[in-house]
Amino acid sequence: MLVYINGKFVPEEQATVSIFDHGFLYGDGVFEGIRAYNGRVFRLKEHVDRLFDSAKALDLDPGITRAEMAEIIKETLRQNNLKDAYIRPIITRGVGTMGLDPRHCANPSIICAASAWGAMYGDLYETGLTAVTVCVRRNPPDTLPPNIKSLNYLNNILGKIEANYKGGDEAIFLDRTGKLAEGSGDNIYLIKDGVLYTPPTINNLKGITRLVLLDICAKIGIRYEICELGLFDLYTADEVMVTGTAAEICAITKIDGRTIGTGVPGPVYKKLLASFQTETQNSGDA
Ligand code: PLP
Repeated sequence: MLVYINGKFVPEEQATVSIFDHGFLYGDGVFEGIRAYNGRVFRLKEHVDRLFDSAKALDLDPGITRAEMAEIIKETLRQNNLKDAYIRPIITRGVGTMGLDPRHCANPSIICAASAWGAMYGDLYETGLTAVTVCVRRNPPDTLPPNIKSLNYLNNILGKIEANYKGGDEAIFLDRTGKLAEGSGDNIYLIKDGVLYTPPTINNLKGITRLVLLDICAKIGIRYEICELGLFDLYTADEVMVTGTAAEICAITKIDGRTIGTGVPGPVYKKLLASFQTETQNSGDA
């Protein structure tokens, strides 16, 4: 694979960063996860906007324009002849001194890598995921705001480790007040009596797939509500599902050992999945 790094494409073995890059030393940087379907980048503008907004929230000037970043992302796909792919642009604070002060980092590092990609959860799209709620709480907005897609994913990783030990395919995070937040790398929804419910994006990432899903709901006539939710709502839902760029749309059929609804991916999920697949196959930037 060829990787874009600071102005040029190099073979992946040569795509290295300094140990003094603050992205490596401190997780001081931002990233995106983007899908391409049939050689077209899905929701490119939205991802570049979120990348730059995340950088802005960290007072990190990428030193290039949004249009230039979009071009780098498309070129990474082209250089590697990829059609169905996962693309990972990264902007770090760049090389500095050992101390954490960002003022000592002269230039940001701009990186973009890609790899061929299939379905993240394999056969689990047929059966649904087994999920567990985790003790680790989603980091609150007054610490590291979950809307910054930063290189510091330790909160999510701690939850994922806990889910792994508990035998869950995915971790479900609550926030410090017990409100439903999101998964380790995806947004969460439940269906009750035909209505789709999802939490507001104060305690979770403003998912781009979430916006796609809500648009689909509006288009195909599924009523949705954005409201605070808790464990009771989760356990008594007819259906639960998650969305993310990597996960796409996947049903959750078991949570904390309890069967959700009938225990198989439900009718609303199936309807949404069909529309989502139509959307991903028929839009995007080449
Ligand atoms: N929540 C978290 C913590 C994530 O890392 C992601 C993935 O980027 C999402 C939600 C879903 O966001 P998107 O649909 O933009 O991929």
